[in-house]
Amino acid sequence: MSDVMLSVEGLKAWYGAAQILHDVSFNVGRGEVVALMGRNGAGKTTTMKALMGLVTRRGALRFNGKDIAGLRPYEIARLGLGFTPEDRRIFSELTVLENLDIGRQPPRRFADGAAAPVWTPARLFALFPNLGEMPNRAGGRMSGGEQQMLTVARTLMGNPLLVLLDEPSEGVAPLIVEQMANTIIELKKEGLSILLSEQNIHFARLVSDRVYVLEKGGIHWQGSMAELAGNLDVQRTYLTV
Ligand code: ATP
Repeated sequence: MSDVMLSVEGLKAWYGAAQILHDVSFNVGRGEVVALMGRNGAGKTTTMKALMGLVTRRGALRFNGKDIAGLRPYEIARLGLGFTPEDRRIFSELTVLENLDIGRQPPRRFADGAAAPVWTPARLFALFPNLGEMPNRAGGRMSGGEQQMLTVARTLMGNPLLVLLDEPSEGVAPLIVEQMANTIIELKKEGLSILLSEQNIHFARLVSDRVYVLEKGGIHWQGSMAELAGNLDVQRTYLTV
């Protein structure tokens, strides 16, 4: 049994005829928080969509011991790969509880047979107290930050083993950013693995163990978060600082 939850080798992706990812390789260990960093347009979102099978892609992709390279998005989601897209797709006419219900999927196990954390609205309200204060509020009447939390909470209702979080701190008030960071730390404690996309080092620093830096659809640097925090050259060259 290996400790690698997600391994990506030689990932290429296209939008129509335009090749966006060239040879992206990385991995995420069990219980690890890994940040995929890079400026706007570097290919972070495309990498996540390629993992989920939402864009044309090629490469070796393994998740929780299974080959997912030939699977469709719903099949990949059913294996426990959760995806929180950048453009929070909550249902604005539905309440918080109804939005959560839509994300519900069966409990899951890791490849070694251990049970993955099981989420209920009550547990999620403990994790996101703001949501717990407005269970019957319509999604469309929530702030951007609250909607962001609801999107993450809905993904967790699927009882994922690993969550792809696309820029969870983007366009969100500082207080909520801090709560989002605490949430990620809590999820890590629960044994979940997280792949985070982020262009700003301030948020990534609070939560990440390791970092891969993307630029023009390729990995240009990799190392621990502590190494990146001490490497101003890499920060200036590839990130928004
Ligand atoms: P952002 O922070 O803006 O989301 P990103 O690192 O996630 O940045 P991507 O969204 O993956 O970057 O974009 C990578 C490249 O793919 C960019 O050059 C972008 O213009 C291009 N691209 C993104 N979406 C499409 C699309 N639907 N059709 C064609 N090209 C696209």
